[in-house]
Amino acid sequence: MLQDQQLLRIPGPSPIPPSVQRAMSQPMIGHRGKETSAMLQEIAPGLKRVFGTKQDVAIITGSGTAGLEAAVVNTVKPGDEVLVIVTGAFGDRFTKICDAYNIKSHRLDVEWGQALQPADVKEFVQNHPEITAVFSTYCETSTGILNPIKELAAAVREVSDALIIVDGVSCVGGVATEMDDWGIDIMVTGSQKAFMLPAGLTFIAASERAWTTIESNPQRGFYLDLTKYRDNLLKDTTPFTPALSLLFGLQQVLQLLDAEGLEQVYARHTLMMNMTRAAFKALDIPLLTTDEDASPTVTAVKPEDFDAEAFRKVIKQEFGLTVAGGQQHLSGKIFRVGHMGYCSPADVLQTISLIEIGLVKVGKEIELGKGIAAAQQVYLQEGVLI
Ligand SMILES: *Cc1c(COP(=O)(O)O)cnc(C)c1O
Repeated sequence: MLQDQQLLRIPGPSPIPPSVQRAMSQPMIGHRGKETSAMLQEIAPGLKRVFGTKQDVAIITGSGTAGLEAAVVNTVKPGDEVLVIVTGAFGDRFTKICDAYNIKSHRLDVEWGQALQPADVKEFVQNHPEITAVFSTYCETSTGILNPIKELAAAVREVSDALIIVDGVSCVGGVATEMDDWGIDIMVTGSQKAFMLPAGLTFIAASERAWTTIESNPQRGFYLDLTKYRDNLLKDTTPFTPALSLLFGLQQVLQLLDAEGLEQVYARHTLMMNMTRAAFKALDIPLLTTDEDASPTVTAVKPEDFDAEAFRKVIKQEFGLTVAGGQQHLSGKIFRVGHMGYCSPADVLQTISLIEIGLVKVGKEIELGKGIAAAQQVYLQEGVLI
């Protein structure tokens, strides 16, 4: 195996484009100087476009979970009750953050592998008028579903003023996100998934409605207090030392997204999802999710007649190809193939080809090339990307 070759096909961290890697190796600069202000100014409009918002997008140094915690601690006042829709491990994480702050959270559990049903959420909120915020994931990374957050926001708004708070960590930048048009009040994402950067930055934007709540919240924490980030951003600076190397990288990422065009970026992700799903279907290996619920950034596969962990071990050992395992009760039962960020249809074809070899090695009877051919067909039918 080539020692330096990493075929990283997990749902984050994801591979880094060479130009982004180079940008991140620039010499350090002063974080209170003009260059940093100019960089923050240049970054702002690109981030807003990706979020689909006119609001400022705060950049916090921390992993995605720091953004989730910021969402909770800023918008939920002492004594408030919230609803957390749990479609998998990351929905569950919101309940744990609430627990850590002694916030009363109601859970709406959805079977893992399925997307939330807006009508069910609407009914729940209608029956619980005390709920001030509804928390959901956009892509639930642990199962590979994409929740219909546009429809969720519309359904909740019919019966409640609760804020709609969304964890978009594993798809924003790879899937269309129209925060303002859809009525999302808080959107959070992180740097190491579709944003093609290492972990270390989290991005968060709030609607006008959310800002009203945040401003009247007497307990916003210290490091994660969003008003600090907003007030400093108005002066093109940050409240604390930013991760400057990651900001250099982010600047380049936004240029790459702009050069490709966001519509093309989203179409590429949909295409990669369709190719991946077609391959497993052709190989007669079950997928965890339906076509309707599937996320364009990650595909969860549920083997019935071979061992997921043995399979993961073989492709890692022989090719340096990493796919993710299952989380919590799906551990050992599924594997997840990431196709987000710096990933193309060419990468998908390589991944499927290696997966076929891995399947043979763990004793699964397949016809070599069947998955590849199905993915190639999808590319030929749908895949004109320029
Ligand atoms: C990766 C991820 C996170 C954040 O995890 P960190 O390890 O803190 O970066 C949050 N939510 C979802 C849906 C994720 O996929």
